[in-house]
Amino acid sequence: MSGRAEECFAGTAAAPGVGVGPGLIVRGDHEFVRRRLIEPSQISEELERLQIALLKTREEILQAKAELVRGWSQASDSLFEAHLLAVEDPTILEAVRRRLESEKICVEAVYQDVIRSFVEQMQRIDDAYLRERALDVRDVGKRVLRNLRGDENAGFCLDKPGVVVADALLLSDLVSLDRRLLLGLVTEEGSQTCHAAILAQSLNIPAVVGVHDILDQIEDQTEVLVDGFAGVVILRPSEERKAQAQAEQARFVALTRAAREKRGPAVTADGQQMRISANVELPEDLPLIRENGADGVGLYRTEFLFLRSERGPSEEEQLAVYREAAEWAKPHHLVIRTLDVGGDKLLPWLVMRPLERNPFLGFRGIRLSLQRQQIFRTQLRAILRASSQGNVALMFPMVTDVSEFRRARELLVQVRQELVEEGHELGEVSCGVMIETPAAALMADLLAEEADFFSIGTNDLEQYTLAVDRLNAQVSSLYPTPHTAVLRLIQGVVAEARKRGRPVSICGEMASNLALLPFFVAIGVEELSMGSVLIPRVKTAVRRIRAADAREGVNTALLRKEAPEVLERLNRLAEHFYPELLAP
Ligand code: PEP
Ligand code: MG
Repeated sequence: MSGRAEECFAGTAAAPGVGVGPGLIVRGDHEFVRRRLIEPSQISEELERLQIALLKTREEILQAKAELVRGWSQASDSLFEAHLLAVEDPTILEAVRRRLESEKICVEAVYQDVIRSFVEQMQRIDDAYLRERALDVRDVGKRVLRNLRGDENAGFCLDKPGVVVADALLLSDLVSLDRRLLLGLVTEEGSQTCHAAILAQSLNIPAVVGVHDILDQIEDQTEVLVDGFAGVVILRPSEERKAQAQAEQARFVALTRAAREKRGPAVTADGQQMRISANVELPEDLPLIRENGADGVGLYRTEFLFLRSERGPSEEEQLAVYREAAEWAKPHHLVIRTLDVGGDKLLPWLVMRPLERNPFLGFRGIRLSLQRQQIFRTQLRAILRASSQGNVALMFPMVTDVSEFRRARELLVQVRQELVEEGHELGEVSCGVMIETPAAALMADLLAEEADFFSIGTNDLEQYTLAVDRLNAQVSSLYPTPHTAVLRLIQGVVAEARKRGRPVSICGEMASNLALLPFFVAIGVEELSMGSVLIPRVKTAVRRIRAADAREGVNTALLRKEAPEVLERLNRLAEHFYPELLAP
């Protein structure tokens, strides 16, 4: 195999850096299970292990039911029932016993095979009810496997350094992996703004997404080079290719190091200041925000905390995490976003029933929080208690109407009152709104009268404005980023907010796009929030801009009619200010 020539695949650069290593293939409904041979005398021991794992799973489901059933609809009750039935299904257990005897491999591998074939059979039957039950069996199967392997091995598991090449990755895999062993990440699906890409960036793992059909061409252990700068993946890279890519990596590291050394605020050459803050997904990211000179945390995505937990973190657990984040963000602010599950961030214990056909247009963000008030109140209590640190703000995701913002803030006021009565010491908390639906952008004037600040979530604003699914690699490459329609919406939102003295930040992936920086400076955005590794470069770029020139150049660019022409003009403007920062 090593004699074969290198093969090159183009995708979308999702997280900067270069990684080289043996490819580890991950397909579809995977769980890594080693097929360990056993002696006939070990069969009863293996069955006993399975019984213990089943009991544990049963307890977990009952506990989740007890904790969450309050305030839930009857549909959630039937979800738990369906899961309990799947745990206890005698046909599954009998099939496992038979195969253990005939194949003599460990119970994890047997159980996984049995669940897979059950799910496949059920999905083949033309019956909507059974197809849905197949999903219950699969979910429960995963839980049982985790319990069989012990919590420390739960989820994604790498036992040696490698590059993961997957069709799509579950966020729950990524949040639980050992990042020291993950040299790079390649997925067939996804775009730059899918959450697996965002997480790879925050974990500092080079990533390329949207690489079509690579799984057909790769075998396990084939050497893979991931070039997260150029968005390219090479199978069996030549020595020369590796040396080139590593030189690129060294250049990026040197540039970042040099930029980091110049600390302090980002101010344009003619004196316009911009706050460059960090997006944080996991508590482990926090030391990086100081290292990279972030001006605080502009977006704390709390759902990753929930994804890591079996049933959702308690108030005390959340409080500890938010307090720690507030501490790290000082002397700047920490903006905590309330839970934004849904879309591509699904919590196994918080699944919508009936299953949503189009989760990105379903119960996401504030919609879900307003419906599942128990979860929302617990989170608000934790955020408010963390506010005693003095630098905490919060914001609500996926708002589409003033009424939603008012209802959410009303709950915040109630929760604050409760906490005061309980004797807690609380700080001031400004309450903002994310502008990430076209509806919110079009009602920015009204929302600005209610909210203390805006944070524009360009990832969703772009997907909903252009009707481009952020997970769909094929369609996301059809349009250039930025598209003029989105730029116009952003311009309008900033203008409305400024009229009322409300600060605006940008927290989607566009915030770190150097081609757009002159645009953000020109329209007067106060803050850009991004993956911390990108901050030093963006700060350097801000210092090279003259705001007056940026305004002139941007006005000319926006006169072009076609979006690719506007993009080309903006690129030229960026090249004028900082050509050396743009080379990949
Ligand atoms: C966004 O939509 O731009 C955003 C920042 O939120 P998320 O990427 O988590 O949806
Ligand atoms: Mg969003």
